[in-house]
Amino acid sequence: MTFQDLNLNTPLYNALDDLGFTTPTPIQEESFSVVASGKDVVGIAQTGTGKTLAYMLPILRNLKYSRQDNPRVLVLVPTRELVVQVVSEIEKFSKYINNRVLGVYGGTNINTQKQAVAQGQDIIVATPGRLYDLAVSRVLQLKSVQKLVIDEVDVMLDLGFRHQLMNIFDILPQRRQNIMFSATMTKDVDELITDFFTNPTKISIAVSGTPLENIKQERYDVPNFYTKVNLLEHLLHDKEEFSRVLIFVAYKKMADRLFNQLEDLFPSESCVIHSNKTQNYRLRSIEQFREGENRLLVATDVMARGLDIEGVSHVINFDTPDYPENYMHRIGRTGRAEQQGHSILLSTDKEQEGLERIETLMQMKIETLEIPESVEISTELIEEERPQIRERNNPTKRSDTHKPGPAFHEKSEKNSKENLGGSYKFKMAAKYKKPKTRGDKNYNRRNKK
Ligand code: AMP
Repeated sequence: MTFQDLNLNTPLYNALDDLGFTTPTPIQEESFSVVASGKDVVGIAQTGTGKTLAYMLPILRNLKYSRQDNPRVLVLVPTRELVVQVVSEIEKFSKYINNRVLGVYGGTNINTQKQAVAQGQDIIVATPGRLYDLAVSRVLQLKSVQKLVIDEVDVMLDLGFRHQLMNIFDILPQRRQNIMFSATMTKDVDELITDFFTNPTKISIAVSGTPLENIKQERYDVPNFYTKVNLLEHLLHDKEEFSRVLIFVAYKKMADRLFNQLEDLFPSESCVIHSNKTQNYRLRSIEQFREGENRLLVATDVMARGLDIEGVSHVINFDTPDYPENYMHRIGRTGRAEQQGHSILLSTDKEQEGLERIETLMQMKIETLEIPESVEISTELIEEERPQIRERNNPTKRSDTHKPGPAFHEKSEKNSKENLGGSYKFKMAAKYKKPKTRGDKNYNRRNKK
């Protein structure tokens, strides 16, 4: 396929020609007609796949010339670097189009940005906080926004922008097209889609179903967190074999918890990255791991996304990802550049469904190893592993958002749960010989002595 096969227009073809782009990337090929159709879209694609053009090409193709001041396209991104990058991409492709594009982000003078907004814009690219401030100040009117793009939504949610996104959704027109791109699928991303999108079309450039041949994959069934730690301790003692180990966990709290355990077991050999750590801390951790100063790096899926580190001897999946694509991304960090890589997956009983999804995607079984006898099987449970005490109708109870829960399938399972309320009530009624309902005269008569 070439760009000629897409229904573009002369100004876009000319811009593509100038840039020397001839062939659309897979995500561009797949996204074009869906984004152009006006439907809600969720694209799973990493930086470097051409995702910016994947959503901008159809948008630019359909954006009519207009003299109105209020923007019609809003692109939200997590960082100011990305604002600058996306604006520069849009400008390149708009070389022969008469449109107005503006990037706004925090940490700079808001008044200058207000003046720029007031001049009238077609496309605004923004970080959520600054966009909201501009909208609240009423300089920026969002009532004409027809298309909302949220890019790198996984990073955005990981950085804690959910609340700000909600605020922005509130002031956007109800009738609009939502287009979202994310590199990883996470529980937070999934929730956002369910809550705010209308039947989105999901586009995912096939994370190859067949794993790289030079990655040796193995797995263990492990009952709980502390046994996983014991097994890790046993494995990681072989420092020659496990020379540079990337350990994946699903969420921040678990990353910290595991890091603390590793610090005790292997002092000064480990480092950790997740989004609650400062950028400096994260960069230092990655550097120490890259340089071999630290042999072990604990990372969450979202933060490890852009990591490109040579010579990772092992990827350890400390938990089993709910989304099989995440597993593929994780193990792709080892076995690079012709080297033999190793991947080890740990799964509890609760994680067996995730395992099945991974094996289905890869169309192969991962070899299962027995936990060595010298590894102690712990019976101690962490907070998330203890049985949940079910409280009915307790509006103050917080749901545990950190728990890595199952994915799309969860709702139907949850919804199909039997409601234990009724039978409990009747049991209690029988026990205390109370009428089933106040008006149950037969019951009272039956029990009359
Ligand atoms: P992105 O994934 O959007 O960050 O894009 C990665 C880089 O690839 C950017 O510098 C784009 O300009 C470039 N790019 C995007 N699409 C194409 C294409 N079809 N052919 C060649 N380069 C591209």
